[in-house]
Amino acid sequence: LPPSVDVVVIGAGAAGLMCAIAAGARGRRVLVLDHANKVGKKILMSGGGRCNFTNTGTSPANFISANPHFCKSALARYTPADFIAMVDAHRIAWHEKELGQLFCDESSKLIVRMLLDEAAAVQAQVRTHCTVEEIVHDGDRRFRLRTTLGTLECESLVVATGGLSIPSMGATGFGYEIARRFGHAVLATRAGLVPLTLSGKHLERLQDLAGVSLEVDARCNGMAFRNRMLVTHRGVSGPAILQISSYWQPGDDLRLDLLPDRDILDWLSSRQRERPDAELRSVLADVLPRRFAQRLCEVWLPSRPLKQYGPGQLREVAALLQAWPLVASGTEGYRTAEVTLGGVDTDGLSSATMMSKHVPGLFFIGEVVDVTGWLGGYNFQWAWASGRAAGQAC
Ligand code: FAD
Repeated sequence: LPPSVDVVVIGAGAAGLMCAIAAGARGRRVLVLDHANKVGKKILMSGGGRCNFTNTGTSPANFISANPHFCKSALARYTPADFIAMVDAHRIAWHEKELGQLFCDESSKLIVRMLLDEAAAVQAQVRTHCTVEEIVHDGDRRFRLRTTLGTLECESLVVATGGLSIPSMGATGFGYEIARRFGHAVLATRAGLVPLTLSGKHLERLQDLAGVSLEVDARCNGMAFRNRMLVTHRGVSGPAILQISSYWQPGDDLRLDLLPDRDILDWLSSRQRERPDAELRSVLADVLPRRFAQRLCEVWLPSRPLKQYGPGQLREVAALLQAWPLVASGTEGYRTAEVTLGGVDTDGLSSATMMSKHVPGLFFIGEVVDVTGWLGGYNFQWAWASGRAAGQAC
């Protein structure tokens, strides 16, 4: 390692590499350290190997944080269009899948390659297989680091170690440890964008439907997400469930509209007029997966010919289909979660630069900070934007 640089970035993921690129472009001597055997592992595995690298509709409303205003400044100064410009300059082909989500046509590897090429172009150095063992901040306002590759000094230290999800990919709580050591509050962390698990009778009722998927409107704590739900062997997953999981905690009321965009009572009434002898389950099977409709009528709804339902009973059926209660017992946890909610309290950071208010020269960026995006490219946009904000200041 060089004995001294201007900036050390811990974590060669999305945020850390973007920060190195921005700082290097200002002429800062930058060194990025990562304990893993290769850089950007989460970028590589993201978006099913195609990296959903941003969302064109990104706004502060797509992020969860104890301070919803914190993310505004950085997101406004580095936008999806800015990142797309970099992707285009590297001739990486991309497409919009749905809802503003942009993916590489070919492979996430191209995004990692682009970031490493950009870093190399501004002489930012990157070292893998490097564990930071000790950090000392002394009176002359320099950081001294002892690492498994040697010791070095720097003026600015940027923590970009990410969240706790997917420990098998190198995730650690090291960033939170550094934050606490330097007097920062760390808000309770939990898994986000994660499948929900069911137990007992709730699991038994659905388990054998594993593989069935349907469009729902998932609602919890005032939030609603319209997308697919997938029944799994352990519970439920799919984009609607991943999204709502970030707003759900054990015990919270979670409801699914099983026929979103439809006035269900109106629809049932017209079915009743047109097909009075048809059973509820076969009518529902016209608009829901057949096995799911069947199960609804075994467990939650009585299935009779439609002519036998009085107006009040039809209203009850409609109410259940519109707000079907999903009783989850927990989540699959960090093992499969896409993100970590909570983290370094934004109260202790400048929203313009990501610099610590307690320790000048210390920065926190990316997922380690208490800013968590929805599913759909928002988390990378936060990583790019916060990395860039720190890279312009460190
Ligand atoms: P990371 O990218 O996680 O980088 C942190 C780096 O720090 C890693 O390289 C790690 O090895 C290193 N590190 C950790 N601890 C230490 C230590 N003690 N010492 C040295 N180095 C350390 N988001 C999207 O926007 N779109 C997607 O398509 C998408 N898909 C995803 C798919 C999966 C399966 C997962 C798990 C996440 C996905 N995400 C997606 C979320 C996104 O990957 C993260 O939010 C983003 O990578 C966070 O960037 P970061 O730089 O803060 O952290």
